[in-house]
Amino acid sequence: MRGGETIGRVVIVGGGSAGWMTAAALSRLCAAGVEVTLVESDAIGTVGVGEATIPPLLDFNAALGIDEPAFVKATRATFKLGIEFVDWARRGERYLHPFGRIGRAQMGVPFHQIWLRQRQLRRPDLDPGPLGAYSIAEAAAVRGRFAKPVANPEAVLSGLSYAYHFDAGHYARFLRDFAEARGVRRVEGRIAAVERRGEDGFITGVTLDDGRRVEGELFADCSGFRSLLLGEALGVPYRSWQHWLPCDRALAVQSEPTAPLLPYTRATADVAGWRWRIPLQHRTGNGHVYSSAHLGDEAAREALLAGLDAPALSQPRMLRFVAGRRERLWDRNCVAIGLSGGFIEPLESTSIHLIQQGITRLLSLFPDTGFAEGEVAAYDRLMVEEYEHIRDFIILHYHATARRDSAFWRDVAAAELPDSLAERIELWRGKGRLLPIPNGLFTEESWLAVLIGQGILPTGSDPFAAILPAGETARFMAHLRHVVARTAEAMPFHEDFLGGDARIE
Ligand code: FAD
Repeated sequence: MRGGETIGRVVIVGGGSAGWMTAAALSRLCAAGVEVTLVESDAIGTVGVGEATIPPLLDFNAALGIDEPAFVKATRATFKLGIEFVDWARRGERYLHPFGRIGRAQMGVPFHQIWLRQRQLRRPDLDPGPLGAYSIAEAAAVRGRFAKPVANPEAVLSGLSYAYHFDAGHYARFLRDFAEARGVRRVEGRIAAVERRGEDGFITGVTLDDGRRVEGELFADCSGFRSLLLGEALGVPYRSWQHWLPCDRALAVQSEPTAPLLPYTRATADVAGWRWRIPLQHRTGNGHVYSSAHLGDEAAREALLAGLDAPALSQPRMLRFVAGRRERLWDRNCVAIGLSGGFIEPLESTSIHLIQQGITRLLSLFPDTGFAEGEVAAYDRLMVEEYEHIRDFIILHYHATARRDSAFWRDVAAAELPDSLAERIELWRGKGRLLPIPNGLFTEESWLAVLIGQGILPTGSDPFAAILPAGETARFMAHLRHVVARTAEAMPFHEDFLGGDARIE
């Protein structure tokens, strides 16, 4: 790795969500005299999906100073309080993975330990009911209601987190306006060649098919599944996770909007994968993610169309992918952000988040005076940890299921787990221990919601939970459930909340 190279020109290749998010975040460099150029091809276009997000996106938008009502209006967004999983643990069962806090710790004992202990006492008068009754996001979501969290930490509503469903094309357009207004230059055209220099293989520029050349010192590869720079030009290999995550195709289709507008994403398990439903203001996004080794395309298409709640607005479009990541996400003077670096199926809406993390880490390790090996390695390590944590969380959904009704479900349940996940599940099965993961996106509450939702219940609980008097605990829990339900009932309906300035019409 070479050092001592001042970064005066940054070239972003690609204008999908990854490209424009990167451009918007790097646009602040323009004021410092750095040239930021984004190259995109209208003829190639973008992947055209990616509508469901998770709460950290709010931090990204806030860091850019984006006004929320303007953003919601421009991107036709709705609010999202979690993901409903239908038919995952067993056919006919459903659960919600809500955003935000679940319950409240008591005297230093995690809430889920108290909940487990009360259940394990097996006394109807002490039964704590479902875990979701202690989540304000879940209580609001199932009632179709929405409100913003409040700052007062004593209030139940302080525990609510939310994200958005939005039109990804409109988001990219919104960020393009933002970035161009701050000095980012956009070049439209198809890249035909990538030039590298001899001594160290660094990328020096890209040439468009009409002969124009764009040069730079730092390149962000946001070229999507093509991975034009990191994969094709630099030859960084792809590490497949298909043996854990066999789904390799998706069919996506938009349908007419339905009322009421629900404030959550739905993921319904199917015979060889799952189907998503994402409600936006002006339409619903739908898709079917499946394993082509287990299901034919025509059967997948029929299942998708049969599951729609409203008439389709177009023909289903197919996308092919392989779950995994590039071996390195930063190589020489090129950082891959977005699909060019890797892909994990969108079951927990994590791809846009990985883009955000890539950008945040690039900013915090920005190589303004050259490429230091330690910094590049730190970037890689942090991103790989994040990818693998998300991978484990997604595999959990497939592994922890009682479904055996098709070859697909039998195969995924039988697949060997990554060691990291196997250890985590084992710790959980014993006494419900949930170890925090450094740099991990998913909180203990997220793991909890999915582990319990998928039917994995520990046999024991933390001994400290037994110190709390069971009768008093039962009264505290009943009160908490009541306050959560009452707070949710007092919230406006999601539709009404959106009906203000934010809505498009
Ligand atoms: P793309 O959108 O493909 O953009 C690539 C860009 O590179 C385009 O502008 C293209 O024109 C340009 N380009 C490529 N080659 C050239 C060339 N030769 N010359 C010039 N320009 C070029 N994420 C979520 O967070 N939530 C979701 O709900 C979600 N759902 C998904 C569902 C499916 C089926 C799939 C496949 C992905 C989903 N994702 C989701 C992921 C999400 O869509 C992507 O992370 C996001 O759109 C970013 O894509 P991108 O910008 O990396 O690539």
